[in-house]
Amino acid sequence: MNLQLVDLVNQYKKIKPEIDAAIHSVLDTGHFILGKTVSDFESNTAKYLGVKHAIGCASGTDALQVALMALNIGPGDEVITTSFTFVATVETIALLGAKPIYVDIEPDTFNIDATKIEAAITKNAKAIIPVHLYGHSVDMDPIMQIAKKYGLHIIEDTAQAMGTDYKGKKVSTIGDIGSISFFPSKNLGAYGDAGMVVTNNDQLAEKLRMIILHGSKVRYYHEILGVNSRLDSIQAAVLNVKLKYLDNWNEARRKAAGIYNKLFENTPAITPKVKDYAKHIFHQYTLRVPQRDKLAEHLKSKGIPHAIYYPVPLHKQQAYVNLVSPNLKLPVTEQMTDEVISLPMHTELTFEMQEYIASEVKNFLNTI
Ligand SMILES: *Cc1c(COP(=O)(O)O)cnc(C)c1O
Repeated sequence: MNLQLVDLVNQYKKIKPEIDAAIHSVLDTGHFILGKTVSDFESNTAKYLGVKHAIGCASGTDALQVALMALNIGPGDEVITTSFTFVATVETIALLGAKPIYVDIEPDTFNIDATKIEAAITKNAKAIIPVHLYGHSVDMDPIMQIAKKYGLHIIEDTAQAMGTDYKGKKVSTIGDIGSISFFPSKNLGAYGDAGMVVTNNDQLAEKLRMIILHGSKVRYYHEILGVNSRLDSIQAAVLNVKLKYLDNWNEARRKAAGIYNKLFENTPAITPKVKDYAKHIFHQYTLRVPQRDKLAEHLKSKGIPHAIYYPVPLHKQQAYVNLVSPNLKLPVTEQMTDEVISLPMHTELTFEMQEYIASEVKNFLNTI
């Protein structure tokens, strides 16, 4: 059986004529940076999310960075987030000279534990970055209340959760700024790097538009410090086609997750939980299992792709240990890094594939 963690080629084959036409139409215009293709995608995405402003940029990592820049985060500032996330969340904080402050996660959602945030707030705190990990929204209401009480900004890292809801509202539109990644393997993936920032705040939107364009509104006049992070027109054309399919694709992932859940009933594997406030879109289907590393070896020997997101939490990464307070304790984060394993999850999974994958997971679990 030809199994893949993510199957982008077979997904492309199903929409090939539309994608190819969209790419060719950009080639015919000769406009490769910004222009109508990008503004069309921005307005379609704003409409889809129910947000006032959507601003394309070059990647999800850049989206985080320009969001932090727009909120004037810099040296001496502290940004509260999770250690159980992709490196970009913390890399961008560190790049701007600010300090990441890690809060432990919930064992059932793997997301930041809102009940532990207040204890981490100091007079230097400026912002919180909740990360909607694996496609399950963070419990945003308590975080919004804390942000209000202490005057903190919120940037929602929505790289893994494009299209998911929190209490019926699209994530990325709840805090001050939402950052989105269109990395190819994300739920809405481009055919290269691409990203977006979204906001309901007019002033922030204007500033974000300037920052991604070298800090300028009028060409060659630079009012603020900026970067070069524009959304590529060809990527916008691809994304404009794929956006129409996003809800169906997210539904296909939810269905596949339901099948896995059934197949793992009555086994020691802990399947993903979905909270009442959330609508999980399963960017990842992640189990918690005993003897995770041995299971990974077993799956490898059977040709079953799998991944560990993430094997080392960020507070233990060499590049970032110097930013960690010596008495930091994140017991849940550390336990999860030992227990999690993600199985193949994409829009092209068949029942036969899932049955085979699950049977090999179960074969291993029966031996321990
Ligand atoms: C993928 C990802 C990013 C970065 O997005 P890129 O488009 O790859 O730069 C940021 N945060 C999280 C949680 C991610 O999963």
